[in-house]
Amino acid sequence: MTREGAMHRRWTVLGLLVLAGLLVAACGQSATPTVQPAAMPSGQRVVVVTSLPIFATMVEAVGGDLVSVSAVLPPGTDPHTYQPAPRDVAKLAQAALVVYNGGDLDPWMERQLEAVGSRARVVALSAGLEPPPGIEAGHEHEHEGTPEAEHEQGVNPHFWLDPDFGIVYVERIAEALAEVDPAHAETYRANAERYSQEIRTFDEWAKGQIATIPPERRKLVTFHDAFPYFAAHYGLELVGVVILSPGREPSPQEVAQLVERIRQEGVPAIFVEPQFNPKLAQTIAQEAGVRVLELYSDAAPAGLDYLGMMRQNVTNVVEGLRG
Ligand SMILES: [Zn+2]
Repeated sequence: MTREGAMHRRWTVLGLLVLAGLLVAACGQSATPTVQPAAMPSGQRVVVVTSLPIFATMVEAVGGDLVSVSAVLPPGTDPHTYQPAPRDVAKLAQAALVVYNGGDLDPWMERQLEAVGSRARVVALSAGLEPPPGIEAGHEHEHEGTPEAEHEQGVNPHFWLDPDFGIVYVERIAEALAEVDPAHAETYRANAERYSQEIRTFDEWAKGQIATIPPERRKLVTFHDAFPYFAAHYGLELVGVVILSPGREPSPQEVAQLVERIRQEGVPAIFVEPQFNPKLAQTIAQEAGVRVLELYSDAAPAGLDYLGMMRQNVTNVVEGLRG
């Protein structure tokens, strides 16, 4: 081979190497998540914003130190009648993942997301869920903006109070985190599996607890209509609710009817919720001659995660009904 020939070959090899390098770089670039604007740069926590604080505790259980989570709804607030504040917009604008329930629990979340123009991954935890067979779980709510305040039966949105659905929520959160932060997908799935197992263990304990209530006393009257799935799961009869929908006070006739029902059915106690003024329930309990205890649905005391809230609910139901 001539000297020129050798030089030519060397340059060709060099050229091929440079080309290969460019190709690798291009492939690397196309693998970076430019199509998913919400995906995480490595080493940063995933910023997650939830509607209710109780969903934030589920995100913490699944995400641990990999996430930074906060809720839009202030603690102890009723989500059904919540009016979004300007600070919510700033919070949502930073989120890589937004988690809310859907249905008429937190409809303001969708409106806020639209207003923000958020490009975050969005998960509606109750999307597509249906009441278990045989459960009447219509949910009365007033149709906003209609002059005749028309009542509509939608699907009751409080699925997470049935631990089987609680597990569905946890799994959905894990899948969403895995999409937003694929580098830690396995960790999210493992955490979700561990937390789901804790929920199953709780559920076994809870069924044992409910079994200690005499069958004729397994009757529930709650403040708002949040417990049809909880009641069905644990074999409790839902006898009535104090308010038919949040923001609507019952008429004196409706109150009298509920008092009568509590007496007739021998309901041992009624349950208030911290996000509502308990005065009316206390009056009803006094007239019916029954105890007042607390249950948690849309708002739980600070420091209680989803499982802690569920345990407290079962403990309070047993205390109120067992006699
Ligand atoms: Zn509710």
